[in-house]
Amino acid sequence: MSGPYDDVLPTPYEVLDKRAAGLFNGTAKLDRLYVGCRWAEGPAYFPAGRYLIWSDIPNNRMMRYDETDGSVSEFRNPSNYTNGHTVDRQGRLISCEHRGRRVSRTEIDGTITTLAETFHGKRFNSPNDAVVKTDDSIWFTDPAYGIDWDYEGLRSPMEQDGCHVYRIDGKTGVITRVADDFVRPNGLAFSPDEKKLYIVDTGATHVENGPRYIRVFDVDGDKIKNGRLFATCTNGLFDGLRVDEDGRIWTSAGDGVHVYDPDGTLIGKIHVPEVVANVCFGGINRNRLYICGTTSLYAYYVLVRGNKTF
Ligand code: MG
Repeated sequence: MSGPYDDVLPTPYEVLDKRAAGLFNGTAKLDRLYVGCRWAEGPAYFPAGRYLIWSDIPNNRMMRYDETDGSVSEFRNPSNYTNGHTVDRQGRLISCEHRGRRVSRTEIDGTITTLAETFHGKRFNSPNDAVVKTDDSIWFTDPAYGIDWDYEGLRSPMEQDGCHVYRIDGKTGVITRVADDFVRPNGLAFSPDEKKLYIVDTGATHVENGPRYIRVFDVDGDKIKNGRLFATCTNGLFDGLRVDEDGRIWTSAGDGVHVYDPDGTLIGKIHVPEVVANVCFGGINRNRLYICGTTSLYAYYVLVRGNKTF
């Protein structure tokens, strides 16, 4: 393709509930910004530089989309098979590394710091996705996809006793386990008021009729409690998700992006021609939804803004 917007697809949205009527932009198209990944994941938008970082997991590299000119380049190779990314409140890149089996942070000077590598003396499985809370704590999931096969990391024995969810304290760096009743915890996101934490379970990849749902928890300081079913995926599996400023959940699925009202109702979809793994809001006004869809990076302008986390 010769330009960033040459490869556009028809207006893709679907309103399933009248509450979604004002979400989608009828004149915007689904932009395919890049093709050439094996498994695009982990988008994170940096508003100060107007660029997006994402992972191409099986190719062991991270990519960078420059919003100012539409160019795409390789940001880091090898990447330790990074998966999920986010941006902390100081503007630094937080990365979940499959092969590194750690959560790392890229500092302002470019050096990489390990934030979480072991728990009770044992290595993590393969951190998958992370989110930063306004108290600077980092919450992350630790399924085993990066040690199950070499394709997404390095096949290795599991040292933890399962696939759990953890929190890194923002001041002390102390790591605590906050949930231990998941099969394969995956994407996660806070509600705008940070009173709720949504966590995906993709256990159906490993357990017949296993979880393919989002659960929601009440946040109680540095803990979560009262986990309950929020939504079950109606096409494929959820993976990564983000929340908009009004608390709606925008999540990946087999046929595109699914949008949920905070009451758990599926209210709309953005149809994408590839399986979607993750999304994030970006653009100057946080109204551009970036979509990682298998081989491609897509973007679609919506009529709402993302929550002030990236
Ligand atoms: Mg994931």
